[in-house]
Amino acid sequence: MGIDHGELHVLFFPFPANGHIIPCVDLARVFASRGVKSTIVTTPLNVPLIARTVGKASIQIRTLKFPSPEETGLPEGCENSDSALSPDKIIAFLKATLLLRDPLEHLLQQEHPTCLVADMFFPWATHSAAKFGIPRIVFHGLGFFPLCVLASVRQYKPQDKVSSYTEPFVVPNLPGEVTLTKMQLPQTPKDDEVFTQLLEEANESELKSFGVIANSFYELEPVYAEHYRNHLGRRAWHLGPVSLCNRDTEEKASRGREAAIDEHACLKWLDSKEKDSVVYVCFGSMTSFGEAQLREIAMGLEGSGQNFIWVVKKGSSEKVEWLPEGFEERVEGGGKGLIIKGWAPQVMILEHEAVGGFVTHCGWNSALEGVCAGVPMVTWPMYAEQFYNAKFLNDVIRIGVGVGVQTWIGMMGGVAVKKEVIENAVKRIMVGEEAQEMRNRAKELALIATKAVQEGGSSYSDFNSLIHDLSLHAH
Ligand code: UDP
Repeated sequence: MGIDHGELHVLFFPFPANGHIIPCVDLARVFASRGVKSTIVTTPLNVPLIARTVGKASIQIRTLKFPSPEETGLPEGCENSDSALSPDKIIAFLKATLLLRDPLEHLLQQEHPTCLVADMFFPWATHSAAKFGIPRIVFHGLGFFPLCVLASVRQYKPQDKVSSYTEPFVVPNLPGEVTLTKMQLPQTPKDDEVFTQLLEEANESELKSFGVIANSFYELEPVYAEHYRNHLGRRAWHLGPVSLCNRDTEEKASRGREAAIDEHACLKWLDSKEKDSVVYVCFGSMTSFGEAQLREIAMGLEGSGQNFIWVVKKGSSEKVEWLPEGFEERVEGGGKGLIIKGWAPQVMILEHEAVGGFVTHCGWNSALEGVCAGVPMVTWPMYAEQFYNAKFLNDVIRIGVGVGVQTWIGMMGGVAVKKEVIENAVKRIMVGEEAQEMRNRAKELALIATKAVQEGGSSYSDFNSLIHDLSLHAH
């Protein structure tokens, strides 16, 4: 029983955080490129980010009014969790998003989509979709490995069987031996029931949903793709890496927020460097380190002797006293380094052939973008499921080396990682035999990733399976 792609209309509803919106827009572009009518639903202040990332793709954007400051207790204009990073604001923000339910249902009634793809942080969306008889698919933006680890930790609670935060345990019922400690597990904001309940509900609603779209490709993690689908019995499709829908420089440059650097100047700087000679350093869309850590990073990068592009997020970047004496003149003047204070066009930079390494906080998007760029990585996990992703890069696909952080430290960083450690880790991924071996493996995976999303590739084909499954549901 077939269904024409053109008969479908898929509504995408990303959680309003940069790291969730961006891959969701990429995903919508994957659908649009296969002839599926695609609509992204968001709130007004997130439209510019989405419109930039949509680019020329034929995707409509519909808006829902974000609840007012009177209703939420949030400041005016706070419609993206990235402007609500303090623990109490995050909770208020999560509560505010619950109020999007009625407006979303109203929109579902108007639009009559065939399917709703909603973020994991909207557990109620499964029920909303069911009201209108349509399937809800969950998009976490994650790959199979972190999904499998999350499921195992949730089910078996191995962290409750150890006597301290530092005692290692093996994640049960998971292919391969994955060792973690309690310190590395995702923590919820202190004493917070809202967050804990949200995660519970997210899990339940996922089990009742039509299935999960993974941002991954089969060849990257076949064992975990099988485990998730066959052993854990979850219905899932791998349609990634979704960032590969950004093909030309213009698309890569306009993905995400407006860059804090002129992209032509950035490309010119990269063009002037030798192949694989630049290390790109970025800790995702939310991390803002304290001054002590920033200083150590600055000295570690300089000490490594490598060319670098270092992205420093606002908050820490407004004043630059934290930089070691004469640092900017030395590294920028000498052409050795480029500091981007604010948003960087990450995919554009990573995929430039001059970039040969990536220091990352291991958000799944960044990790996968590093894979697509074929670069070895220094893994520096901090929050959410990033320790799992770091394990995956270091131990499963073996293209990463850890910077040595052992504990979940949230978005503001914890005890500073010292300059010598950073320097050594950067050298390990940039020079020498080990670096070359990792780079070879990474480049091979990058090639397979490109093929996966092309006609006949594993992700391309799994898209057809998804359409097939949707058509069975529709009949
Ligand atoms: N990103 C970017 N420029 C930046 C910071 C982040 O383009 O300066 C993009 C990055 O390419 C990725 C997303 O934002 O697609 C961040 O997602 P990730 O899962 O890596 O981390 P999060 O920000 O959610 O912690």
